[in-house]
Amino acid sequence: MKILIAEDDMVTQRKLEACLLDWNYEVVVAGDGEAALQALQGEDAPRLAVLDWMMPWKDGLKVCEEVRNAKAEPYVYIIILTVRDRKEDVVQGLEAGADDYLTKPYDVHELKARLRTGRRILALQEALLSARDALRFQATLDPLTGLWNRKAMVANLKKEIARSERNNNSISIMMVDLDHFNRINETHGHLAGDSILRDTAQRIKSVSRVIDDVGRYGGEEFMVISAGQDATKKSGQGERIRNAISDCAMDISEGMIQLTASVGVATSGNAKETNPNSLLLAADLALSRAKALGGNRVVEARAEEVQVMSMANRGISDSRRRMPNKPRFAA
Ligand SMILES: [Mg+2]
Repeated sequence: MKILIAEDDMVTQRKLEACLLDWNYEVVVAGDGEAALQALQGEDAPRLAVLDWMMPWKDGLKVCEEVRNAKAEPYVYIIILTVRDRKEDVVQGLEAGADDYLTKPYDVHELKARLRTGRRILALQEALLSARDALRFQATLDPLTGLWNRKAMVANLKKEIARSERNNNSISIMMVDLDHFNRINETHGHLAGDSILRDTAQRIKSVSRVIDDVGRYGGEEFMVISAGQDATKKSGQGERIRNAISDCAMDISEGMIQLTASVGVATSGNAKETNPNSLLLAADLALSRAKALGGNRVVEARAEEVQVMSMANRGISDSRRRMPNKPRFAA
């Protein structure tokens, strides 16, 4: 494990370094506070530090304060090692953000034990951080299908729009909705419904590109974000999704069920005029048109519709679901 020694007294520095090397630490040495701070804020910085209090340019307590103020992750475990041994000094050192305080002359066994405590704290913190990251990732997924959830898809859409503006690409979204899905839930129960949703998710994924974002937008509605393709390829993708769902029957435990899907596609004509809501609304409108025509088809929103939506919705956050006049699906 990497460890920083910040110590301006050469004799102490050498002695300390020899000990730490002997205990299998990878030692980084700084002769003053400024160099210590740099070492702790650089890339692949040590996460354990033994700082002298009195050093040129910046004292150990100041280094400690600056590290804490930066609130950087991962955490740096800091031990102050100093000749200042009054009670008030110890309090001052700990208040500056040090985790531990040792006075010189120090006992090597004690130092070794205290470093072990530091490592234990760092290991605990690491476990906490990875648990937190795993939770954050879980929060972006739809638990039933394993696809992105709606919140993540809206965030992805914003990101993809920003990227397409930079690259001057168009961007398409496809809203995919299973036809007559309610009947399945009513006739065969929710378990059958869930298995169909999982199957549908897999089928949509299987005909999407790796770089497309595929998500479950809610209920039996799925969404695909596709950037950087030309218009013909995009409408082809809508058809591929529709075919993937209707081509062969889906297996529910009590038998096979034939399903179809409707797809609404909206493509940004000019990325500079695009906002997430205009695309969502235009795709939704196209989807309800597909439903009104009997379902099992792909309908594309006209370019001017996307433009109109864009002007009407500029600056409004994702409010599509709360729109009073949101088109209801007929089929
Ligand atoms: Mg000193």
